[in-house]
Amino acid sequence: MSEFGKVYLVGAGPGDPGLITVRGRALLECADVVIYDALIPPELPRRAARAERIFVGKQADRHSLPQEDIHRILIEQARRHACVVRLKGGDPFVFGRGGEEAAALAAAGVPFEVVPGVTAGVAGPAYAGIPVTQRGLASSVTFLSAHGASGDAAPLEDVAHTMLEGTQVVYMGVAGLPRVVEALIRAGRAPDTPAAVIEWATFARQRTIAGTLETLCAQCRRAGIETPALVVVGPAAALHERLRWFEKRPLHGLRVAVTHAEQHAGALEARLRDLGADVFAFPAIRIEAVDAPPEVDLAAYDWVLLMSVNAVDMLFHLLARSGRDARALAGARLCVAGTPSVLEAVRGRYLEPDAVPAHFGADAVVAALEAAGGPLSGKRVLLPRADVARSALPAALRARGAAVEDLVGWRKAPAETSRDAVEALLAFAPEVVVFTNAAAVGCFASLLDAAQLARLRGGAVFASLGPVTTAAAREQGLEIQIEPPRPDTAHLIEAVCAWRVRG
Ligand code: SAH
Repeated sequence: MSEFGKVYLVGAGPGDPGLITVRGRALLECADVVIYDALIPPELPRRAARAERIFVGKQADRHSLPQEDIHRILIEQARRHACVVRLKGGDPFVFGRGGEEAAALAAAGVPFEVVPGVTAGVAGPAYAGIPVTQRGLASSVTFLSAHGASGDAAPLEDVAHTMLEGTQVVYMGVAGLPRVVEALIRAGRAPDTPAAVIEWATFARQRTIAGTLETLCAQCRRAGIETPALVVVGPAAALHERLRWFEKRPLHGLRVAVTHAEQHAGALEARLRDLGADVFAFPAIRIEAVDAPPEVDLAAYDWVLLMSVNAVDMLFHLLARSGRDARALAGARLCVAGTPSVLEAVRGRYLEPDAVPAHFGADAVVAALEAAGGPLSGKRVLLPRADVARSALPAALRARGAAVEDLVGWRKAPAETSRDAVEALLAFAPEVVVFTNAAAVGCFASLLDAAQLARLRGGAVFASLGPVTTAAAREQGLEIQIEPPRPDTAHLIEAVCAWRVRG
């Protein structure tokens, strides 16, 4: 048996975390250690739940590790672990020095595999609506680096004359863009050749600047384009105007912070991302089970009201704890809050509600219960809830003669959010901060001091899911500028889109 584990040189793709390969992701999930660079989508190392993570990239205050040190770390880690994932941006063998790492591993007798990735030079143009080859327009594509081993542009001058009819994609070219343009023109490219620069390609903050070789430098200077960026040169670059799709999404590049419970990052964030937003998930609260929730005899109830995903989770937790299952609910009618996530949680347990009120308001719930099960007088109603319930519902039910029993099963506590998370939030500089529940507002406000809140307020508007959350925000002195006409995520997202269109 080898004294070494195996090193996987895995391409992470260019930035969009969805662009890693299926094999790359599977390896991440079972890695013992992940060694990664800057520019790796931050979501990916986090997927390696059980792995030690070693960052070897460039940081603001220091250079990246010398390549030899990275080789040494790879070999050391392979001696210790069975599955070492070396995660590299784009494709490991395209301008990524992955070849050198493979050679060092081979020389040391360490077994390795290479998992290709989507290189920025292919993905960036795709996300900018630039087909790198196009019938009649470009029948070849050349990938060039503007950096030689010594960091100068000499190698570019050597190869710039190749494939002048096709598309040329230049990596590492924007820092020295004038020299890159000059080299291409000297090699024979016409100054009016269409050209584009794609900054932070496939990330939510992607920007594309399109023009011609001779206009590009001034355009990029004006826009403040910085690295990482790709230069794309050739007739196909002109297709950007017609085929751009990524940057056209309704929330493209909008920086949105979403406060949520640690346990429930999810649907809202995913939907915002689909629409193009740059989402920062800020866990403000934690849902904790209360120490000893009481036993309940479900057979005794006419109605069980499930008004949140937590209520569904808790009820089943209690059932499981006493060795029961969904059959214990057979005698009761179920009323389920009409938000998609609660309905989904209930249907996910193969239960179909008897009543689905149109909204959370006490009147709507009472009406739905009566419509489905007749007068409430004398009915026994179970309401699983958190320790602080703000709802007027129990009182409204009692006014109708129902016997309501609260089942207090969980509490909302501030998340164990470190100062780092608050600082990261401020550095992210959100344009919109979304609150999805009242408890999160309170916890959020308690995590930031006055100066931090003021900084946040300077650049961001606050959005809330609905009136209850808005009232809680107001109590904390946070003015809500975006609130949907109905308290659900679909309407909230529409409201954010509408706010953006209004500019
Ligand atoms: N192995 C990587 C390339 C590493 S070289 C790959 O296959 O994509 C680093 C250069 O790649 C950057 O200077 C930039 O020119 C380009 N690059 C990488 N990721 C990028 C991104 N998301 N957007 C624009 N350019 C990117």
